[in-house]
Amino acid sequence: MIYLIDHMVSERMRGVKGSPTVRLSGLVAELRARGENVISLAIGEPDFPTPAHIVEAAKKALDEGFTRYTPSRGIGELREAIAEKSQQENGIQCGPENVMVSPTKHALFAATLAFSGAGEDVLLPDPGWVSYLPMVQMANARPVPVPCVEEDGFQMTPEAVGERITPKARMIIVNTPNNPTGSVYDLESLKGIADLAEDHDLVIVTDEIYERILYGESHHSIASFPGAFERTVTINGFSKTYAMTGWRLGWAVAPGHLLDPMSTVQEHSITCATSFAQKGGVAALRGPEGPVEEMVRKFARRREVMVKGMNEIPGLSCQEPQGAFYAWVSYEDPIKSLDFSEMLLEKALVAVIPGGAFGDEGEGYIRLSFATSQDNVREALKRIREVLS
Ligand code: PMP
Ligand code: GLU
Repeated sequence: MIYLIDHMVSERMRGVKGSPTVRLSGLVAELRARGENVISLAIGEPDFPTPAHIVEAAKKALDEGFTRYTPSRGIGELREAIAEKSQQENGIQCGPENVMVSPTKHALFAATLAFSGAGEDVLLPDPGWVSYLPMVQMANARPVPVPCVEEDGFQMTPEAVGERITPKARMIIVNTPNNPTGSVYDLESLKGIADLAEDHDLVIVTDEIYERILYGESHHSIASFPGAFERTVTINGFSKTYAMTGWRLGWAVAPGHLLDPMSTVQEHSITCATSFAQKGGVAALRGPEGPVEEMVRKFARRREVMVKGMNEIPGLSCQEPQGAFYAWVSYEDPIKSLDFSEMLLEKALVAVIPGGAFGDEGEGYIRLSFATSQDNVREALKRIREVLS
């Protein structure tokens, strides 16, 4: 008997696809379990261990029985540390009352649910991180991709944003440094976007999770611009900076009128972030910066190897990413990025993310993460070169 099960799935979920980054890393694990020697440049996840002092703080918390619910917005000492960091490093005038601790992805989801819904538009970068668009779809709102083209350094220009704002627009997502292109937004573009948001009464959700992974450029937070804080939610997290992806810990900083509805989402979904992970978060923000600087130095060396190597392979080209740990590589073959990536996985045993997973503007590109050892990067380059020549 054939069961027609479509009706069991909510209408909202029917067109929503799973995460290609998360799925591909699962596929790589399966292939490796079958004995395939796959190099993964797919998921964006630092390969370093979490610094020891952070691990120790979480272990101590466990030993001391810190294993219960915490306040929904997070423990006071972590919210204080985040507020201080946001003031000192990002120039955001805020206090602990403006902070909600949450896994980064969940903070973004809570913001999307809180500020958009049926009949409303959300502007987002294209190419842009794989989960923004599905989050907007799950909120029943309409995603409005803003093309970010190579000539503009892959930034959403205020002109491109302005052309796509409709009377239904409620929210705009900004991501700097950007995943997948590595673009770091300049002050002028960010100010232009902030002005448009004010003129059209939009909430700005700015995802700054890669802010510390920079190769010379300066990072700017929109929430530090005069008057912008009142309409801005700044999202950040521990995953990338401190190599803490499995801890599921991040935060949102926002004025009370924006943080309150996000908090309501959190109270009814995950309640709070993991208690002992939060103690690790305090140690990360209050502890020595040496390990972070060392990781960024290593990313910088791998970036050089990756970019140089990619540009030496006939048919591939890549600009230097200014931030994050991805090479955004264009290829000449007139085939879909999914087919090109599958070919690389099959023939070179190198896993990459097809550019089309990041939006229509990503077609003709692939994303390669260099959050992996230099040896892996060199071996992957060798394999790709062999297959393409
Ligand atoms: N934003 C961007 C741009 C990302 O690349 C990621 C990757 N994980 C996230 C948010 C989510 O971070 P986390 O895994 O810490 O939830
Ligand atoms: N953000 C990372 C990536 O783009 C991790 C996976 C995910 O959450 O999408 O690969």
